[in-house]
Amino acid sequence: MLFQGLAEKLQETFKKLRGKGKLTENDLKAALREVRLALLEADVNLAVVKNFIGRVWERSLGAEVLESLTPAQQIIKIVKEELTALMGDTRSGINFSATGPTTILLVGLQGGGKTTTAGKLALYYKKQGKRPLLVGADVYRPAAIKQLEVLAGQIDVPFFSLGADASPVEIARRAVEHAQRQSQDLILVDTAGRLHIDEELMAELRSMKEAVEPQEVILVVDAMTGQDAVNVARAFQEELGLTGVILTKLDGDTRGGAALSVKSVTGCPIKFVGTGEKLDTLQPFYPDRMAARILGMGDVLSLIERAQSTFDQEKAREIEKKLRRQEFTLEDFLEQIERVRSMGSLEQLLGMLPGVGGAKELRKLQAQFDGKEFVRLEAMINSMTPEERRNPAIINGSRRKRIARGSGTSVQDVNRLLKHFEQTRKLFKQLSEVGSGKGSRKLKP
Ligand code: GDP
Repeated sequence: MLFQGLAEKLQETFKKLRGKGKLTENDLKAALREVRLALLEADVNLAVVKNFIGRVWERSLGAEVLESLTPAQQIIKIVKEELTALMGDTRSGINFSATGPTTILLVGLQGGGKTTTAGKLALYYKKQGKRPLLVGADVYRPAAIKQLEVLAGQIDVPFFSLGADASPVEIARRAVEHAQRQSQDLILVDTAGRLHIDEELMAELRSMKEAVEPQEVILVVDAMTGQDAVNVARAFQEELGLTGVILTKLDGDTRGGAALSVKSVTGCPIKFVGTGEKLDTLQPFYPDRMAARILGMGDVLSLIERAQSTFDQEKAREIEKKLRRQEFTLEDFLEQIERVRSMGSLEQLLGMLPGVGGAKELRKLQAQFDGKEFVRLEAMINSMTPEERRNPAIINGSRRKRIARGSGTSVQDVNRLLKHFEQTRKLFKQLSEVGSGKGSRKLKP
């Protein structure tokens, strides 16, 4: 998981501080030394770390943390704010043109994930009601043009290219004309990548930029390369001028050095992050939520958004109705569990919960809650008769034994499932009453 090591170390450090009543300047110094080390181990740029620690130190003294009754909390608050600032303060999506189609040049080195990200962006904005056009201009890797065309087909987005023999500048220019004719309002240009940064590449990208005057020039770079990614970003920024960065492969990046350094080093905000090979794994980057996750405060907002995009609204209303009429069955329960599973890996989901993110508890929970647990639940529910699933109240002792035998589990397992189901049903019922304004009473625990 991203920031795993950093999160564990920071949380460890602050836990120690919490244990103390009043803090001395030396306590603070010792804690910041640990924070500094943790950041360096996460592969954060040295200058960025120095600056960060300097700011936290000054603010901690200035804010009279040491006099406070809850010094640890004050420090955590400062660290959270500074981590957020480090990554870019607010969220920064794409800036759209107010008058005509918006053009985005995606630039980067080969293998960074540029072509895949072009497809992800097209899907992301298509879902938001835009009309994207994917443009294949990576003429040095002819397979890239075909790859993009295939991606475009998968998400049903129009594709434009002139093939590998045309000049990238010509492709980009003609793509803009094509988009205007077809009323596509978002032009995503997959530019040519190289293995290394060289003058030829930069010159070509500069001419493309002059030719189509894009709203955004976004560097797509592999987060797993850590400080190399930061250096690549710096070079592109100096040579070409960037409006933002998309970090890919965050799913494989445990340290997070690039995510924490790019903004400070280049001044360019991280606009999105890629967290998988599939096309729906592009997420807007929210520095404040990231900071909260690093400090183990969770990212409930992202979790809710993920849930909203996974659960369709109609289904949700149907479930709500069933709950209100007390018709919510074990079959519905199973279906809901499967939906939750389809939201992402349990690791990703648990990482967003407060108190779990990055900490050691995550590993404990994972061990308890591996995929096998779901398989067992499924087996138990499948071993019930339709009548039992609809009306679990009839499941008496002998039926419990039969279900346990049928599913290869124990009676205790069946008991646990039924108890859990009953609790969930009660909780959902209360929630839906509150949600519908029926029950103004407080939720019972
Ligand atoms: P390009 O040369 O920059 O166009 O790179 P590609 O788009 O072809 O991507 C290179 C490889 O990285 C492909 O195998 C992609 O599936 C993979 N990839 C891209 N983005 C991500 C990501 O966010 N996570 C993971 N795990 N793989 C990614």
